[in-house]
Amino acid sequence: MKKGLLFIISGPAGSGKGTVVNSLIKNHPELSLSVSATTRAPRAGEIDGVHYHFISKDEFEKLIEKGEVLEHTTYCENYYGTLKREVLKANKAGRDIILEIEVDGAMQVKKKVRGAVTIMLTPPDADSLERRLRGRATETDEVIKWRLNRAKEEIKLIGNYDYSVVNNDGEADKCAELIYDIIKAEHQKTKYTKSIAEKFI
Ligand code: 5GP
Repeated sequence: MKKGLLFIISGPAGSGKGTVVNSLIKNHPELSLSVSATTRAPRAGEIDGVHYHFISKDEFEKLIEKGEVLEHTTYCENYYGTLKREVLKANKAGRDIILEIEVDGAMQVKKKVRGAVTIMLTPPDADSLERRLRGRATETDEVIKWRLNRAKEEIKLIGNYDYSVVNNDGEADKCAELIYDIIKAEHQKTKYTKSIAEKFI
């Protein structure tokens, strides 16, 4: 069975990661997307168990205590975390798993999971970042400003990532395919393919 690898995609607010990750999963359904747990309230159209596992602060803290969370962070005064069971499920099935998480969590996973591959998605420039964030009518000005600053701080950490990909306006599908190329290339690393040499003994 093929070995499933773990890929972390961090897309600061305004990077358009939602659209890119949707395109990636839609066009390559063999990839598993980890459903995170969060204490933030669902946005319009978000479904429990599909977009996130929406849980209370108490429930989240219990999961941490029981050691069921691979990584977690606080973002905009809410907890977000990856459940170990999501990763184990994909691993058992030999499937690649995609974690769509922010930088703090990404670095925690990179330390814990050998071979985890990190990819940062960015908007093309500061103007598009601000325009994209302000276009999201569901949030207050205070939250938008907070997300904008946080996005800029996250992008500064790009050097801690293995790969980075720019998401230009209207090119989400192209960007998703570039990420898929990275996924394919990782599988060709000799640490996973060297057994081919046995056929030549
Ligand atoms: P949003 O509220 O916009 O859905 O997500 C806010 C931020 O939390 C995004 O940067 C998203 O990537 C990140 N995030 C979502 N799930 C997780 C998670 O399980 N762990 C961590 N560390 N970050 C997450």
